[in-house]
Amino acid sequence: MTRYNEYKNSVLRHTMWLSEHGYFGSVMGSGGNVSVRIEGGNAFAITPSGVPYTKMAPHDICILDFEKNRIEGTQEPSMECDMHIAVYKGRPDVNAIVHTHQNKASIFAVINRPIPALFDEVCMNIGEIVDVIPYALSGSLQLAENVAFKLENGCNCYIMQNHGVLCLGHTIEKACLNAELLEKTAAIYADALSTGQDISTLPEDTTSLFNLLRKESLDGTAKDG
Ligand SMILES: [Zn+2]
Repeated sequence: MTRYNEYKNSVLRHTMWLSEHGYFGSVMGSGGNVSVRIEGGNAFAITPSGVPYTKMAPHDICILDFEKNRIEGTQEPSMECDMHIAVYKGRPDVNAIVHTHQNKASIFAVINRPIPALFDEVCMNIGEIVDVIPYALSGSLQLAENVAFKLENGCNCYIMQNHGVLCLGHTIEKACLNAELLEKTAAIYADALSTGQDISTLPEDTTSLFNLLRKESLDGTAKDG
């Protein structure tokens, strides 16, 4: 037992949930990756590279610092480590990252189009827009830079052009919930666009209100420790 076991178990449990619900685009593969920030340190727990989800065990989860030095684990960490580090450095409010290849949201990765605010509960959790991060090769430093550039909008989900999505959360439960809410809103938005009808989006005073509420809830969480 080490102090990291709880983090490893949490990453594995939520990764399995995402895999079983089809969020990685294949059940037998190892696409996508999940991480959590280690409380009180510049370190994180992240899924390994190339280990199929059907075979992943707690000891496969890697513990790394923000310079990518290995603290625990023998597997190669996810190839998207730089992207995860960029998020943890750029967004102190984020303690968990879920990168998936989920189907409906990936429609917007190939039509290269952001998803506007369409539903109250989605806007409350994700923010006023799901913006598109420009394409760069998987695992490249350029991709991490492109992600870092978009983070300041403060939203919790992003489309990654011709790739997949990035979902963030104050907790890993919230990051998974955001992946689920994103899939719902993407499915409905894609169907709505296909009707050729005008799309009704949330009014600006509603999105402003939810932005404020989201920020207040984070401030409250921080005060509560
Ligand atoms: Zn990916």
